[in-house]
Amino acid sequence: MTDLDIKETDVEIKVPEKEPERQFFYMEKCRKLVEQRVKLKKRSLRYHVETFGCQMNFKDSEKLEGVLAAMGIEAEESEKADIVIYNTCTVRENANTKVYGRIGYLGKLKKQNPDMIIALCGCMMQEPAAVEKIKNSYSFVDLIFGTHNIFKLAELLYNVFEDRLCGKEKKHRMLIDVWKDTDKIVEELPSVYKYSFKAGVNIMFGCNNFCTYCLVPDVRGRERSRRPADILNEIRDMASKGIVEVMLLGQNVNSYGKGLDEPADFAGLLSKVDGIEGIERIRFMTSHPKDLSDELIDVMARSKHICRHIHLPLQSGSDRLLKAMNRHYTAADYMKLVEKLRKAMPDIAITTDIIVGFPGETEQDFSDTLKVCEEVAFDSAFTFIYSKRTGTPAAAMEDQVPPDVVKERFDRLLEVIRRTSEEKASALTGKTVQVLVEETDREGLEAFDKKKDQVYLTGRLENNLLVHFAGSSDLIGKLVNVKLDECKGFYFLGSLCQK
Ligand code: SAM
Ligand code: SF4
Repeated sequence: MTDLDIKETDVEIKVPEKEPERQFFYMEKCRKLVEQRVKLKKRSLRYHVETFGCQMNFKDSEKLEGVLAAMGIEAEESEKADIVIYNTCTVRENANTKVYGRIGYLGKLKKQNPDMIIALCGCMMQEPAAVEKIKNSYSFVDLIFGTHNIFKLAELLYNVFEDRLCGKEKKHRMLIDVWKDTDKIVEELPSVYKYSFKAGVNIMFGCNNFCTYCLVPDVRGRERSRRPADILNEIRDMASKGIVEVMLLGQNVNSYGKGLDEPADFAGLLSKVDGIEGIERIRFMTSHPKDLSDELIDVMARSKHICRHIHLPLQSGSDRLLKAMNRHYTAADYMKLVEKLRKAMPDIAITTDIIVGFPGETEQDFSDTLKVCEEVAFDSAFTFIYSKRTGTPAAAMEDQVPPDVVKERFDRLLEVIRRTSEEKASALTGKTVQVLVEETDREGLEAFDKKKDQVYLTGRLENNLLVHFAGSSDLIGKLVNVKLDECKGFYFLGSLCQK
């Protein structure tokens, strides 16, 4: 018997039209096909999901894994798997370049294992030019889908399985299903949590802001919020499974609730999440400065569980560039927010995103950015070299800044951020703080004078910094007190405080 002799044995029943029932129907059909294949191969089938990009993609990958696990397929660390999915990013050009290189590598693996299924999804697949290139140059890819129909994985894979396993289509074909946009939110599909103690929760999808450099509104569609009840039920369910930290995710969480039938806003949602028993830490990202409300600051200041940390992308300190970026705030507005946040919560950590080399950026614009960075003294920052993204208004702007000028400015910015963030972090040296233990520090840090047999752990502070300390691995997922003995710039060495 060959792979192609496998036949589905179940009696054909009507495919449900409604979601998520339809996907559960296909998960079950796939599960049966997987069972047959496992018998034939005398080994389990294995999947590998590789995530490129942001927290949003990381969360999407957990959903993809939930569906694959429900089909009886097991997780595999390497790409030598039966099904490999790349969940791609396209925010900057180098994200695309990286993915093309890796698809080439998958092609080599497929030569050794022709049964392998290669699927590509995520933001990059929303770009017609990227899909065209894959069609022409990587014809061995089996499945391409986008960000709007990620919930359809079971149905799409069933179609690929049918082609492959049931012999309906003996010639290889690439199945492509990419939607331009959607207003659909499909709830209640399974999810695998990468960590047993922390997880992301989508509160909204898409973005309506159209910052002139950014592809996200094109590839993630218009903003739509989940209903508060669905979010709260998901978090209650997480808490019942032992999750103690949640991160609420959206491209602009401060505009949560717009367009819902019932009145809802982010500050209100946060205070409800704050009341869920078992959730010890609440984080959220990303906050757009133009929509950050006084109510939100108030809810944060009063809460016991919301981490004293806010990620508030500045992008630029030049009012002229902020206008050209379509950000709808000035450097002074941003400074006012920082002042309000620190007045309400003197210990709050503020982190940011900054773009260097936006079209037309002059030395004066850049020094305005440095000035804001010095004044705020960020706890840390993601710094990006501007990447020209075809289709965005900024890509058509004149005065693109020469790469050598951008590089020189970028290095100067890094130096300011490194210095101010190190100063902020070292002020904590000697303090005892609560940390969530995340993992064992397998390699160990050379900075420790290591004893054999001693396990080292990594814990996360409320302000998002990490501390490494000796302890036992049964502390993973627990909140413990750790003394911060030595600051190493962007992490600490510490010691566990026994109660
Ligand atoms: N929605 C979030 C916000 O507005 O703050 C950010 C989402 S975006 C995925 C993350 C960061 O990528 C942005 O804050 C911006 O700094 C950066 N980014 C987006 N497009 C970029 C581009 N074309 N070149 C360089 N950096 C970019
Ligand atoms: Fe991109 Fe701006 Fe939307 Fe953030 S707010 S995702 S930077 S368009």
